[in-house]
Amino acid sequence: MAGATTSTSGYFAVDVKKDCPHIATALHEDITVDIQAPCGRCANVGENWLCLTCSIVFCSRYVKEHMVEHNMETQHPIALSFSDASVWCYSCESYIDSPVLRQICNSVSVAKS
Ligand SMILES: [Zn+2]
Ligand SMILES: [Zn+2]
Ligand SMILES: [Zn+2]
Repeated sequence: MAGATTSTSGYFAVDVKKDCPHIATALHEDITVDIQAPCGRCANVGENWLCLTCSIVFCSRYVKEHMVEHNMETQHPIALSFSDASVWCYSCESYIDSPVLRQICNSVSVAKS
């Protein structure tokens, strides 16, 4: 379906942290966005998360929590959701926003349209 109407006019009313200190060190310099990529552990496809530190895809807490597991094992703090192109920082325990994330978020939106 062509996205004529989307309700995603920007972010939700939840707090989005704009000064996450982890982006500077955590961000992989060459992120590949492939929203069809399966979870690296259970092969779930769709609505997965992308680790922005190692560019590996894992499933959400609504599937088998493999991204949560990945964060606990590696301390990689920042993950991007393929479902709504939002970025979560586990260390800040908050959604985050930053100019350096725009391009990555845009490629998710483009891939979904
Ligand atoms: Zn952070
Ligand atoms: Zn999984
Ligand atoms: Zn990682």
